[in-house]
Amino acid sequence: MSETYPQGRRLNGKGVRDRNRPVRVVVASFASCFGCQLQITNMEQHLMDVLGQIDLSYWQLTSSEPMPESFDVAVVEGAVTTEEAEKQLRELRDRAKALIAIGACATTAGIPGIAAKSFYEHPSAVYEHVPQACGAMISPRPLSAIVDVDFEVRCCPVDPYDFTIMLQRALYGSNKLATTRMLCSDCKRNETSCFFGEGQLCMGLVTSAGCGARCVNLGRPCQGCAGISPHANLASARKSCERYGVSVSDFDEKLELFNQTNQATHEAE
Ligand code: SF4
Ligand code: SF4
Ligand code: SF4
Repeated sequence: MSETYPQGRRLNGKGVRDRNRPVRVVVASFASCFGCQLQITNMEQHLMDVLGQIDLSYWQLTSSEPMPESFDVAVVEGAVTTEEAEKQLRELRDRAKALIAIGACATTAGIPGIAAKSFYEHPSAVYEHVPQACGAMISPRPLSAIVDVDFEVRCCPVDPYDFTIMLQRALYGSNKLATTRMLCSDCKRNETSCFFGEGQLCMGLVTSAGCGARCVNLGRPCQGCAGISPHANLASARKSCERYGVSVSDFDEKLELFNQTNQATHEAE
C-alpha cells in the first residue's frame, strides 16, 4: 500500500453514485471512543445536504438494526484490535465499493495503538481481563494495515467539513492525491508564530498537513493527531529540537501518541 496515492484509487477516479438509486452508506466502528461519529452528527447543515444524496442504511451509533447485506460506501471509525474485527473489516471491504476511514484510531491506530508496542513486549500484561465477547485480541492497527482504504479523514476527532468533502469524493469521484506535506507548510501560510521560537515542542514538524493547523491557530501546539507525514524527516526534527532547547525525549514520547504502529516511529529507537 503506497503512501502517496490518488484518493479512491480502487475507483479509478470515479464515484459510486448511481443515477437510478440513492447511494447506500453504512457507518461502522471498531476500537474507538465514538467521538468521530459524534462529530458527524455535528455537521448540521452539511449533514442535511449530504443526507439528501445518500441512503444512510446503517449507523452503528444510532441504530440497533442489523447492517444491510449490500451497500456502496462503508464509513469506518476505530482501530482493529481483535480477530473478529479484522474479519468484519475484510467483509466490509469486500462488500463496499468505497471505504472511508475516519479519525486517528482508524488511520494511525491512534489511542488504541498506544497498546501496540506493549502488546508485542508483554502480550499477557496488556489485555489481562478481556471479556470473552471481544474474541481473541490482536495488536492494534489502522485499517490500512489490513485492507485497501479509499479515503482517509484524519485527526482526533475528524473535522465534520473534512468528512463531508471525503464523502462527496466517494460519491462523485476524485483523482486528488492524498496530502503528504508537513503541517508546518500550512502553519506558515497562517502567519502564526512558531512554538519552537518559545522553546515549546510542536509536532507540526513531522505531522501530515490537512487540518489547516487547527490547534496552532487556537494557540496550542500540534499533538500530531493527523499522523506522521510519509515525507517527515525525524532525524532532522530531533536536531531542530536540540537547536531550540526542546527535549528530544519529549519529542519521541509525543511521537508515539498517535504513531505507535508506524514503523518510522521506532526506527531511530
Ligand atoms: S480518532 Fe479520537 S475522537 Fe475519533 S474515535 Fe478515535 S479517539 Fe475518538
Ligand atoms: S512547528 Fe508547529 S508552530 Fe512551528 S511552524 Fe510547524 S506547525 Fe507551526
Ligand atoms: S494541529 Fe495537529 S493535533 Fe491539532 S488537529 Fe491538526 S494535526 Fe491534529
